[in-house]
Amino acid sequence: MATIASRPAEPLVPSLVAPRCGRAAPRPPRVGSGGNAAVVATAALARSKRRRGKAKPMPEDQAVYPAKDLCSRCGFCNTSLVGRVQEACAFLGDGMARLDQLEERVHGRQRNLEDEMELYFGVTVEDGVVPLQVLPEQRPAQRAWTGLVTSMACALLAAGRVDAVLCVASAAESPKKRLEPRPILARTVEEVLKCGGVKPMLSPNLLPLEELWQVRGEDIKRLLFIGVGCQVQALRSVEEDLGLDELYVLGTNCVDNPRDSEALQRFLRSASETPETAVGFEFMQDNRIHVKHADGRYEQIPVFALKEPENCTGVIAKSCYACFDYVNALTDLTVGYMAAPWQGGRMTEHQQYCVVRNQKGQQMLDLLAEKLDVGQASSLVPNGWSLPRSQLVPSVLSPELDLAFGRRRRREPPPRWLAELLSDVVTALGPRGVEFAKGSIDRAALRNLVCLEVDLLRQRAGPGRELEEILPRHAKVIRARYHELLQEMLEKYQGAQVQ
Ligand SMILES: Cc1cc2nc3c(=O)[nH]c(=O)nc-3n(C[C@H](O)[C@H](O)[C@H](O)COP(=O)(O)OP(=O)(O)OC[C@H]3O[C@@H](n4cnc5c(N)ncnc54)[C@H](O)[C@@H]3O)c2cc1C
Ligand code: SF4
Ligand code: SF4
Repeated sequence: MATIASRPAEPLVPSLVAPRCGRAAPRPPRVGSGGNAAVVATAALARSKRRRGKAKPMPEDQAVYPAKDLCSRCGFCNTSLVGRVQEACAFLGDGMARLDQLEERVHGRQRNLEDEMELYFGVTVEDGVVPLQVLPEQRPAQRAWTGLVTSMACALLAAGRVDAVLCVASAAESPKKRLEPRPILARTVEEVLKCGGVKPMLSPNLLPLEELWQVRGEDIKRLLFIGVGCQVQALRSVEEDLGLDELYVLGTNCVDNPRDSEALQRFLRSASETPETAVGFEFMQDNRIHVKHADGRYEQIPVFALKEPENCTGVIAKSCYACFDYVNALTDLTVGYMAAPWQGGRMTEHQQYCVVRNQKGQQMLDLLAEKLDVGQASSLVPNGWSLPRSQLVPSVLSPELDLAFGRRRRREPPPRWLAELLSDVVTALGPRGVEFAKGSIDRAALRNLVCLEVDLLRQRAGPGRELEEILPRHAKVIRARYHELLQEMLEKYQGAQVQ
């Protein structure tokens, strides 16, 4: 099986990266560019017909959504397309098994499961998993890592490729509210710049589509959507009916999102000495949680040193325990950090990586080329021995499941020096770069397979489905690789309930 290490290691010049998935997905014709009045009128009519017959959006304070407890509050049900929730929702009906067909529709083919990189990272163009960072002098002030997502969005808007960017602003400026999401339709570079940084919480990203249709439909025909996997799946499921002439989709990896503000604050209290000033955090490749504070200070807490790990049960949204799209497979381009080998320092200065999935993704990367430091794909696979991830995954799976099922008991954390030492040892000996990322994907997939089989499958709304029917193909391959471990975990947690 081909891995990135076996691919040629020549320097990656973004514009020379050839698309591997030759066929682009069929797109509706671009309206208004040909100057043909009849075509314009027909397309406008088609758009208005599509909008007819839409249902009444659910109010934002809706208590129960169609996917019930597994709802990720993606915002789809708060739009007038809510009538199509059964086909769009990642947690209803066939759910994430639909990723396979949607990959075909969006990228022209499904991921190649024989290719280790595609199995884990989804459809990519040739050598499309690229280490990169925004050049220091070009970085936006407000950002999660080096501001790749924000810079790309600004570039698309400034170049006139899109009329608006759907991105996530903060609910308000106070430190606590800064971490709460407020998805918006940004029309200017200034508005996009204000959306930099992760708001680590479920976010109703599809909600602003309703505003687009109701208020701004005529001046926003080309849109860049930024979002995470469950949101993007809902968006792609109804792409043809969005009333847009052009849609770009830029996403981030996503896992284990806190369910709401209370849950986030509970987690921060367990991690940080001063949770009230935290404005960002990340589980980093050095096995520490880096918490960024409003005054620019950083805390680096070994994952073994959480103060109240038992209080973190119920922090992660239940939807995230049923999710198999860590890498956001239906974007044109996905950005993340976990495959970039640990370099030390702060996340805002640290290398990231992206997965270019198709020609639109390639266009986005090319547009930003001058502002980027692009590394070699081979650097994502560091040299030297490291513990195989198959040996590390079992030791992290059980604590993860204890957390999910509320079985963590109160205990004194080890002394700080020991927790630091443990983080250092795991970082030095554990999987790095692409292997670290694959280990994270394995861990989340295995945990979620157990959560679904033991409990969540029964909690799914609507007609019952077998596990087999809701799993995308890649999850089945990962499941087969860890058969014995899974059997052991299923036995251990039989009858438990996700909290
Ligand atoms: C909820 C979440 C979980 C993540 N988990 C991982 C992970 O486990 N592994 C990994 O490698 N990477 C993960 N990422 C991606 C990583 O944290 C960075 O977002 C990514 O590397 C981009 O950094 P940046 O500096 O380029 O982003 P920036 O330029 O700062 O832009 C961040 C963008 O994220 C969008 N955004 C912010 N909050 C949300 C939200 N709640 N929902 C949807 N969109 C949002 C904003 O619109 C903004 O455009 C996660 C991202 C999010 C949003
Ligand atoms: S996840 Fe989205 S589509 Fe599914 S029920 Fe919740 S809001 Fe609706
Ligand atoms: S982990 Fe999955 S379900 Fe949860 S917010 Fe992220 S993409 Fe959505």
